[in-house]
Amino acid sequence: MRISQYFMPILRDDPKEAEIASHRLMLRAGMIRQEAAGSYSWLPTGFRVLKKIEQIVREEQDRAGAIEVLMPTIQSSDLWKKSGRYNAYGPEMLRIKDRHDRDMLFGPTNEEMITDIFRSGVQSYKDLPRNLYHIQWKFRDEVRPRFGVMRGREFLMKDAYSFDLTREAGQHSYNKMFVAYLRTFARMGLKAVPMRAETGPIGGKDSHEFLILADTGESEVFFDRDFYDMDWTNFDIDYDDVGKVAKLVEDFTAKYAATDEKHDQAEFEGRVPEARRLTGRGIEVGHIFFFGTKYSDPLGCLVQGPDGKQVAVQSGSYGIGVSRLVGGIIEASHDENGIIWPEPVAPFKVGLINLKAGDAETDQACEKIYQGLTAKGVEVLYDDTDERPGGKFKVMDLIGLPWQVIIGPRGLKDGIAEVKNRKTGERSNVPLADIVGKFS
Ligand code: ATP
Ligand code: MG
Ligand code: MG
Ligand code: MG
Repeated sequence: MRISQYFMPILRDDPKEAEIASHRLMLRAGMIRQEAAGSYSWLPTGFRVLKKIEQIVREEQDRAGAIEVLMPTIQSSDLWKKSGRYNAYGPEMLRIKDRHDRDMLFGPTNEEMITDIFRSGVQSYKDLPRNLYHIQWKFRDEVRPRFGVMRGREFLMKDAYSFDLTREAGQHSYNKMFVAYLRTFARMGLKAVPMRAETGPIGGKDSHEFLILADTGESEVFFDRDFYDMDWTNFDIDYDDVGKVAKLVEDFTAKYAATDEKHDQAEFEGRVPEARRLTGRGIEVGHIFFFGTKYSDPLGCLVQGPDGKQVAVQSGSYGIGVSRLVGGIIEASHDENGIIWPEPVAPFKVGLINLKAGDAETDQACEKIYQGLTAKGVEVLYDDTDERPGGKFKVMDLIGLPWQVIIGPRGLKDGIAEVKNRKTGERSNVPLADIVGKFS
């Protein structure tokens, strides 16, 4: 992509409304534009990141055996009346009337609808287990939308729903999602600590929130320092190996970690020696929840068991805040100059800077590298504008692409370009002929 033909409205000054780094940087880098309180348009650069995050989430859901569907954003209220949540959900739910005066709503979540879909499509225990997910916009009329996409009203969520015959089978489905979450967040360069969360009526170890640690997080968190020393990268797993999956979950839940809602100071002090007790703030990026027959009972989601009897299916739901993650990753990875994208989610991998646009030789050298990288499938944002070099450097640092390739007449005389790593700040001179080969 050439900046001269792109749409990336950069703001020179800090927007006043932004209280935290990610919101400020997303606005400044021209990634989003606010349309109403808690509702944003995704401009090209922001949209590219959103899609990359969405794709990682999708790949890891698929790998864990979940199956993708797509349900509508606007739902009928009928199923919600049956489950009892139509009234219970409160003012966070956006209620809508259609022209026939029917009660509709903009889905804040999809347990009812998916349970009904499953009910109508499955009759026998032989069709279990299944896990269905979708990645769809949700609307919650938050009391205080803030921090940009971190607490929006309209936001993109991945929500998966598991269906099993027994509690034990349901536990394996839950564990698979737990491991899928570890893998998903690790691929984005994040450590998202699983913390015990409010459990349903069944109790036990059946709800966890995944939080990234950041000073600007809305939850207060209490955890064991040992989490820092765990291996957060090596989650190769055979999802059919029930014991191994359970063991990995066990490893990541054995140590104390809780948000303020579930924190028990006495237990914390009892289990964790003082030197290892850490408190801080965190951002909830995922939440998994096993709720048994909470929806299958009222909605009549039954299957025929092996003994011929009808049984209500055991379910869980598993959410990831896809759009919140865009902000969350920035909170975890930025400096005073701007965003530092982890490569797997970066909008482009390379920023190519032409220091003297209009100079035939420089243009030609840049063009050759731009074409070469593009032909290889490397995503390049080429600053071919006639802005001054200082301004170009600032913008590249602000938008945070992992690599910068800087080409100007001075280096060209020696046949070299400068390559800068955004994260480490390291610079090196690389022969022009080697640049394309350096990236893949
Ligand atoms: P929170 O505690 O932040 O209000 P929640 O517990 O209400 O979130 P869940 O119902 O668990 O949210 O939804 C699953 C995921 O969706 C959350 O873990 C979070 O990442 C994301 N999410 C929830 N509300 C919002 C929002 N208003 N804006 C952006 N993402 C959100
Ligand atoms: Mg909420
Ligand atoms: Mg929450
Ligand atoms: Mg939650």
